Amino acid sequence: MPKTDISSLLPHELEAYLAELSEKENVKIEKFRASQIFSWLVKGARDFSEMSNIPETLREILEKNAYISLPKIKTKLVSKIDGTVKYLFELYDGECIESVFMRYEHGNTLCISTQVGCRMGCTFCASTLGGLVRNLTPSEMTGQIIAAQNDTHERVSNVVMMGIGEPLDNYDNTVKFLELVNLDKGLNIGQRHISLSTCGLCERIKELADTKTQITLSVSLHAPDGERRKKLMPIARKYGIDELIDACRYYIEKTGRRISFEYSMIHNENDTKECAEKLKNMLSGMLCHVNLIPLNPVRERSYEKSSKQAIDEFTAVLEKAHIPVTVRRRLGSDINASCGQLRRDSAKNMPERT
Ligand code: SAH
Repeated sequence: MPKTDISSLLPHELEAYLAELSEKENVKIEKFRASQIFSWLVKGARDFSEMSNIPETLREILEKNAYISLPKIKTKLVSKIDGTVKYLFELYDGECIESVFMRYEHGNTLCISTQVGCRMGCTFCASTLGGLVRNLTPSEMTGQIIAAQNDTHERVSNVVMMGIGEPLDNYDNTVKFLELVNLDKGLNIGQRHISLSTCGLCERIKELADTKTQITLSVSLHAPDGERRKKLMPIARKYGIDELIDACRYYIEKTGRRISFEYSMIHNENDTKECAEKLKNMLSGMLCHVNLIPLNPVRERSYEKSSKQAIDEFTAVLEKAHIPVTVRRRLGSDINASCGQLRRDSAKNMPERT
């Protein structure tokens, strides 16, 4: 029997699990132990032996049957410019992921990963270069927050799911993470303080909308028409741009929430005046916001970032049509805080996988 990932259990599941263990091991386990164990896990216990108010026999039973998946800091880079912290975390099986801790006026934000690698293949992105290795469990997502809080001794109040991976390609674990992170006895981060970024898996966007979630949905659009989008993002061959916009409208209708469109500005690919005009026509009248991201060039690719002038002109076209638009401020530029590259560098120094 593989060990149980105990930190992925919701409180009622943890209670049920203890009842199961009690039967299996033929010992009495009181119900209230579940909430004690839960608070140890939220505090960041790495080992059952740390759980000092739990009887030794129960700790041994837990050790035998379950494991704590909390990520370990492998590398930590701190920006000298703005204090942004980038973590390379090692998971229990040796795989690595990245998270970025950013300080904003409205609170601390952690950008978390949702998969080890990614299979979406966007041509400008570093995270997808080695393909998908595996999904993260819900506890490996909450674990990034717990580990970052314990390291910085500061509370994380906002989460953006914009690190390595495609959250909607790991749908069930993502939805469970959203439940776990929300619990008041847990990390207590409200849905309105969470943003989920997707490359545009239409069925999943609709499924999420049907849950009436209140999280902010960010959609990686990156192009104003199907042709250009297909060139940048293979997923656009599966879902046409009209289908994507329809799914976004459905999300807005069901949740009442504004969608945020991400648009990475790539020199001569998607940053021309013609592109701005097309984007304007497509989004006009929609409850949305456009976030322009100056491309962070990836070594393995030949794309270049747009000039400041191109970004300014693009912005002006949207503003004139009253489409809310912001240009993403790049935090941690000296530590290359955008995701994917650190993991790749660390993987190169590791022995080849067999
Ligand atoms: N899989 C999710 C999360 C990806 S990362 C998604 O596709 O939305 C968050 C954002 O950064 C996405 O909009 C992604 O397209 C963008 N991005 C990835 N690599 C980038 C790069 N090199 N420069 C600028 N933006 C990039």
